[in-house]
Amino acid sequence: MKFLYSDTQDYVDPEYDFLTDRNAPGRRRYWDDVYAHELMTPSPYDGLLVSMSAVRQADGVAKSKVRYSTAEEQRMLRDGVRKFLRYGGPKFKDSMVLGDCGAFAYADSETPAYPPQEVVEFYTDAGFTHGVSPDHIIFDCLTDNPPASEAAPGVIERFDITLANAREFLRLTDAEGYPFEPLGAVQGWSPKSMADAAVQLEKMGYRYLAIGGLVPLKVDVIKQVLHALRDAIKPETNIHLLGFAKADTIHQFTNFGITSFDSTSPLIRAFKDAKANYYLESPKGGLDYYAAIRIPQAIENPRLMQGIKRGIFSAEDLQRREEKALTALRKFDSGNGKAKDALDAVMDYQQFLTLGDGHPIEQHEKELKKMRVLVERTLEDAPWKRCRCSVCSKAGVEVIIFRSSNRNKRRGFHNLGVYHKHVQRTLEKHR
Ligand SMILES: [Zn+2]
Repeated sequence: MKFLYSDTQDYVDPEYDFLTDRNAPGRRRYWDDVYAHELMTPSPYDGLLVSMSAVRQADGVAKSKVRYSTAEEQRMLRDGVRKFLRYGGPKFKDSMVLGDCGAFAYADSETPAYPPQEVVEFYTDAGFTHGVSPDHIIFDCLTDNPPASEAAPGVIERFDITLANAREFLRLTDAEGYPFEPLGAVQGWSPKSMADAAVQLEKMGYRYLAIGGLVPLKVDVIKQVLHALRDAIKPETNIHLLGFAKADTIHQFTNFGITSFDSTSPLIRAFKDAKANYYLESPKGGLDYYAAIRIPQAIENPRLMQGIKRGIFSAEDLQRREEKALTALRKFDSGNGKAKDALDAVMDYQQFLTLGDGHPIEQHEKELKKMRVLVERTLEDAPWKRCRCSVCSKAGVEVIIFRSSNRNKRRGFHNLGVYHKHVQRTLEKHR
């Protein structure tokens, strides 16, 4: 089972100076930066997924989803996706580069943002190894399997568009001589309708299916979908799970013959989760999660800035406490300070993160207590000291600090690496 990371132009400055919080002098964004697969050995994933909607603006595509400039899009098409992502050469020659349309980005539109012809050209020009047919997302997944006549308005249209597109997409890919391996996108309003779609795709000639619309679904519902699918399709047909957000439960999915899946969750949780920001292999098997230690830059943090603007906090006072927190944490890390002193200094600064939002003092204190418990656990276990990955060996304690994208993304890269190993171990156990 291959783990693919869904690229959203994530890179860091390898020469970032943590002590001054500055980029290397003269650093050029992207050109001097490195992707996770460049920074880390071994690479923290088996392949990359690139969504067309992240690259190419089109009618119906939400602007916020487009991550590439026009110049970057043109360079990707000219140089190829591998060269653009610096994911080429002997080291990565067997790795998968999968393209899809990123159906979430145009979910509100009546039709998919890109017609099959344009998608085939895009995958071909950019040199993807695999490409998913242009689908139209269906959000419902009703486990009581209602018939088509009871499906919500618009759902059947989306179901039919997805299948018609898949047929046309396969015809065009065939006419081009299969420059990439095509995957047929599965959408449906229930496990049964998804299984029906999968059977139709097999009949068209697809050997690899991509299951869409999984992101909002609960683990049990995803399992029901896979049971229905596996009962209906050939055992040798490959399955890819698109946007598998429940990545942590992968051990429950080893019996469905899944060939590959993609997820961004290990990276995203490094800076979007309330407490699971740093992954570590658990001695009991599975994963342990730690809260990162929040020491944001006082003059850049929106909450703190609010307080400063409203005259509740003084900028100088905040910066002094910020500096103290950083110093105490680094001292503790180097063995020259106590965990308790680091904890106190960190909390002395963190109290301002919730003080400025105008809630009653009781709620603030409750919040602070919760944060203290999380920080204390992270300091006690000091998980960054136990990790030997390329990120943690070099960045040390900086990786656990919730502060600036260079630390937060590094922590995300580390999580990808830990997660990747977790997937490999899980598969070995179930072999
Ligand atoms: Zn690490």
